[in-house]
Amino acid sequence: MERVVLRRKSRVLEGHPWVFAGEVEVIPQNSDGQIVEVYDNRKRWVGYGYCNSKSNILVRILSRRQSETIGPDFYRERLKECVEMRKHFVKDTNAYRLVHSEADGLPGLVVDRYGDYLSIQILALGIEAQRDLIVESLAEMTGVKGIYERSDVFVRKLEGLEERTGVAWGEAPPQELIIQEGPAKFIVDLYGGQKTGFFLDQRINRMQLGQLTQGKSVLNCFSYSGGFSIAAGLGGASSVLSIDISEDAVALGEANAKLNGLELEWKAANAFDCLREFDREGRKFDVVILDPPAFTKTKDSIPGAQRGYKEINLRGMRILNPGGILVTSSCSHHIDHDHFLSIVQGAANDAGKRMKSVIYNGPGPDHPFLVAAPETRYLKCLFAEIN
Ligand code: SAH
Repeated sequence: MERVVLRRKSRVLEGHPWVFAGEVEVIPQNSDGQIVEVYDNRKRWVGYGYCNSKSNILVRILSRRQSETIGPDFYRERLKECVEMRKHFVKDTNAYRLVHSEADGLPGLVVDRYGDYLSIQILALGIEAQRDLIVESLAEMTGVKGIYERSDVFVRKLEGLEERTGVAWGEAPPQELIIQEGPAKFIVDLYGGQKTGFFLDQRINRMQLGQLTQGKSVLNCFSYSGGFSIAAGLGGASSVLSIDISEDAVALGEANAKLNGLELEWKAANAFDCLREFDREGRKFDVVILDPPAFTKTKDSIPGAQRGYKEINLRGMRILNPGGILVTSSCSHHIDHDHFLSIVQGAANDAGKRMKSVIYNGPGPDHPFLVAAPETRYLKCLFAEIN
């Protein structure tokens, strides 16, 4: 087994799972996709991890226990741990994240459960090397009918991997799979939907919203397939208007409303324009939801992203009735929690509004995080009363 020695202090010594190429003395040349041993700059043991010399993330730590054997049993144990944890923590849904990559001790592996099917994403060479074992173990442990692979994501390129999609095991999932989340049903497109088909990470926030919408007029911006819209409608909202720029997303949202016996209003448009327009017209709502895509995927574009978040939050607050509820989110890990909250506060200041923050959540418990790796705490969701 090749050894990797750190040149200097690294976040990996504080519990972060990544060793960057620039942090080591010599880059191993013959261990791509294999396990290496990591030592610190004083040659003390750090852990085992898988290596990829083609990636900027040279090693992803799997275990810090020197006596560990990283073989099939190790991977099976980690998967089993994920299955057991969800049994304990995840309630009221048949769709949830089963394996959340680094935070579940399986770097580069994402597995989402949608009823009788799994969707998997393999994002690193080290886990690609274990693909067959993972697929077989998951089939056996979960008793699903089929496993579909959605490894069609850009980050695979950074690992020197081609994109791949298709049935990995068992039956092909139906084109329109229906899942149950609390009182709501949703159609999920495992083949071409955004992410692996659904924004599972917002589940607890959708369910929370459903408790607050009785008799209220609701505006849902960046609605995708209507996750928050359906929750609001089933929660007794008097009206729900949903806006998404994607016509496909709006069509899926309309189908979801029908499936739940709801009559809601949908608009395929740019939410920035609509918010500005409603503000100009003086149109008001009791609840405004903002769940935009990540406005920044790199450090360089943080200032632009900040302006974007501030703009929508400012407009969102201005078009709320007094005592109205703003539900505002960001999923960009480059904007951390304090930064996000300060942007929202800045929007309140500029709008001349008093903000009473009531609920502040991350994603649900099926998306665990590592305290030592802030990028695993990417999702923020604030419920605030605006006066
Ligand atoms: N809240 C949703 C997930 C939202 S994902 C849920 O719970 O399922 C973000 C959505 O924003 C995507 O569907 C994307 O199509 C949409 N989007 C991106 N830019 C937009 C814009 N400028 N205006 C409106 N929608 C936009």
